[in-house]
Parts: sequence; C-alpha cells; structure tokens
Amino acid sequence: MNTSQLSRSDVVEVRNLVVRYGMATALDNVSLRVAPGEMVALVGPNGAGKSTLVNTLTGILTPASGSVEVRARIAQVPEGRQMFGDLSVDDNLRLGAWQLPGRGKSRRKQRDTSWVYELLPDLVRVRDRRAGGLSGGQQQMVAVGRALMSRPEVLVIDELSLGLAPLIVTDLAKHLAALNRERGTAVVLIEQNARLALDLCSRAYVLEAGRIAAEGSSADLATSPDIARAYLGEAQGLTSPPEAQDCPGPNDRATPGTGETAPGHQDTAVQAAQAATREAK
Ligand code: ATP
Repeated sequence: MNTSQLSRSDVVEVRNLVVRYGMATALDNVSLRVAPGEMVALVGPNGAGKSTLVNTLTGILTPASGSVEVRARIAQVPEGRQMFGDLSVDDNLRLGAWQLPGRGKSRRKQRDTSWVYELLPDLVRVRDRRAGGLSGGQQQMVAVGRALMSRPEVLVIDELSLGLAPLIVTDLAKHLAALNRERGTAVVLIEQNARLALDLCSRAYVLEAGRIAAEGSSADLATSPDIARAYLGEAQGLTSPPEAQDCPGPNDRATPGTGETAPGHQDTAVQAAQAATREAK
C-alpha cells in the first residue's frame, strides 16, 4: 500500500500488520485504511486471513508486528452471529450496550432499543421471541442490531451473506446501505461473495494467503480481468447464461423455515442486492 494515501482522519489505519498463530503466519505485511463513513469490502477465498484481520482490528487478536490504530468506536458482527439463544431479541439488542459508560437516565437512554427497530423494522414483530428460535436472516439482523447498540462509528461485519437466502441478503444489504447513508457509520464488510461486496462498498481489498493481492475502487476491481476471473467468474458461479441466472438453482432454495441457503450459490441475491443498493443510493 502507498502509505502516502494514509490520513490522520482515517478511522482505521493498519500498517504492515503481521499476525501469527504459533509458527503459522496468517497475515503478512497487511496495510489498510478506512475513512469516516466509508464502506470498505474485504474479499478473498477461505483461509485468506479475513477473519484474522477483523479480529485484530477489534482487539481479539494481538499483532506479532506492525500497527493497528482504530480512532473511532468499533463494533463487530461476528461470523456465525453468536446469539444468546435463550434470551429475547430485545435482551440480545440491549446486551450490545453493556460496555457503554453511564448511569441512571443516560444508562436507560443507552439501553433504549427503539432506534434499532426503526432501522431494522423486521425485528419489531419478533422482539419478544427467543433469539435462538429465529431464522438465520432474522438472527443476522439481531446481530447487526446488537452491534449497533454500542453506537459504533465503524461496523465490522464478518460474512453478511453466509448461509442466507437471496431475498434475505437483499434486505440486509438495503439496511446496511441505509445505515451508512443516514447515520454515516463506516462499514467494513468481509465477504466471500465478492460481487455482493464490490457492489455494496465503494472500495475494496482482496486478501490472498495473508497478503493484500489487490486494492482499489470497487468499480476498478470489478472490471479487472484478474479479479473477475478469480472472484466474479467461475469462483462465484456466474458463468452460466443470463436466463439460467434468473432461475433459482437447487442450492438457492432456502432451507424451509430458516431462510438459509447453501453458501456460494447466491447469484440471485447478488442481482437483487445490486438493485437494492442502486435504489438506496
Ligand atoms: P474463511 O473465509 O474460511 O472464514 P478467512 O479468510 O477468514 O477464512 P482466517 O480464518 O483468518 O481466514 O484464517 C487465516 C489462516 O489462519 C488460515 O490458514 C487458518 O487455517 C489459520 N487460522 C485461523 N485461525 C486459527 C487458529 N485459531 N489457530 C491456528 N491457525 C488458525
């Protein structure tokens, strides 16, 4: 990365980061920045180091060398959502505010969940239900809402679309675009579904085997032949003719009652999310 592009006003600044698990190097000389209110995607294949990078950003992992500066409040939506299954949706949301300082009236205000329901209205009708009994998409919304309760200026989402049906992903993409537009929250989106990530975010980094293989505007990356071949073509299953893409394949079917689908087969989600984000923009 050209470090002259780094700016003190960036909310996240990572320089020459190295992270190891024992003897194994998971991130090797990674640099990255996020400006206030920016939506940045982090794409790459399994094992590239995406989760390691976000876990280092949020302080879960400690770097072997290099620096990580986070100059704003940051919250993470973890891969796999990690609900408190026996608690209600509303209690899960309120837990998101537990770390905020404050007592009495200000504490009550911090624990007020009403603004999250305004942003994620689908949660209103399930607010008193056990979080563990919700569909995958509803749980992902609760996980986003819970992270928002800590009033982050940077929201890090590890695999937004993982295992979710296309329409659910569309809805989540719409909410994220609205959150970014209306509240100016910066978003770092980790996605294996590169097309969805590049469409939703204005800038992106491609991580491969622990190194940044490419970075730039999403528009430029999406038209780069190498990126298209590796991430937007065969790898994403988008080589089928357009008419085939309009028909949900066997793997696009949601698992009954869950709203979930097999990962890696979300072409229709991508198309719908593109339409949703264009509309939101
Ligand atoms: P995925 O898309 O599959 O979630 P990823 O891009 O998020 O992958 P990481 O989970 O960050 O990749 O893993 C990066 C590398 O570090 C991989 O080689 C992985 O096997 C290794 N790794 C991850 N967690 C650990 C761990 N706790 N102990 C040892 N090695 C690990």
